[in-house]
Amino acid sequence: MTTDSAPTSAETDEFYEVTNLVLLDVWGDNFHQGYWESEEDDSSIQVATERLTDLLIERSELGGGGRVLDIGCGLGVPALRLAEKTPAEVVGVSNNQSQIDEANQRAVAKGLHDRVRFDYADALDLPFPDGGFDVVWIFEALMHMDRPRALREARRVLRPGGRIVITDQLQLGPMTDENARLVREQLDLMHASPLLFEDGYRALVRESGLELVEFLDISRHTQITSRRVIETVDRRYDELLARYGEVVIPILQSFRNPAALVPELGYALIVARRPG
Ligand code: SAH
Repeated sequence: MTTDSAPTSAETDEFYEVTNLVLLDVWGDNFHQGYWESEEDDSSIQVATERLTDLLIERSELGGGGRVLDIGCGLGVPALRLAEKTPAEVVGVSNNQSQIDEANQRAVAKGLHDRVRFDYADALDLPFPDGGFDVVWIFEALMHMDRPRALREARRVLRPGGRIVITDQLQLGPMTDENARLVREQLDLMHASPLLFEDGYRALVRESGLELVEFLDISRHTQITSRRVIETVDRRYDELLARYGEVVIPILQSFRNPAALVPELGYALIVARRPG
């Protein structure tokens, strides 16, 4: 991974401005992978995506409350679920204003706006003082960022002893040259940084001044996601194109790109803490 190859905030903002609509339509309002118990598990996308959110909620240990920052909050659905299941106060940030507007409306609609709010911010330059949060989430968003810079910034706003819960793509093993090329193209289309192996993650966490608590490879549970996305977009391609216009062609193409099925493309749940 090099700093040069990380997407910029302006690029991901522009990407999501259009992607928000398509993702909401084809995948639902959780902009992250589903977690399926097994190949036979026929849970809906909504159940599977909420199940992944619940894994993060469990690992946040917020039964007694606390202040949480959700970096890269999407439409705010995971943060609102966290606030429904714990007494925590949550601030969500994203670099896409449309998401922030929708997330705040959803907080009001759920009557949670006294404990949950969403602010426009760039993850690399957070408008918060040092040490103000007990827990930080970066839920399927770190791949869009310069990972070392984003983690250093997350550490800064975390109180000593506080924990960070992350999910991100993971490379599971060596790829053929052809698969590596396909995956690289796909990551470019999705404005995502190059993949890391588990070792790379362990080093990244350490070098960011954090202590690893748990590294969980959940690829086996999330890989169904790509199959479902590809199936849905293939089936609905013409209808989606008619509804949203030509501007969505690159997004639809990237969503149904078979590169997402490369078996070495995995997914990890990572918990770390800021030393106390
Ligand atoms: N965590 C949410 C959304 C995941 S999608 C969910 O699970 O539903 C990735 C999110 O990261 C989007 O909200 C995107 O706007 C945000 N993002 C990407 N780059 C960012 C940046 N530089 N600063 C802040 N947010 C960013």
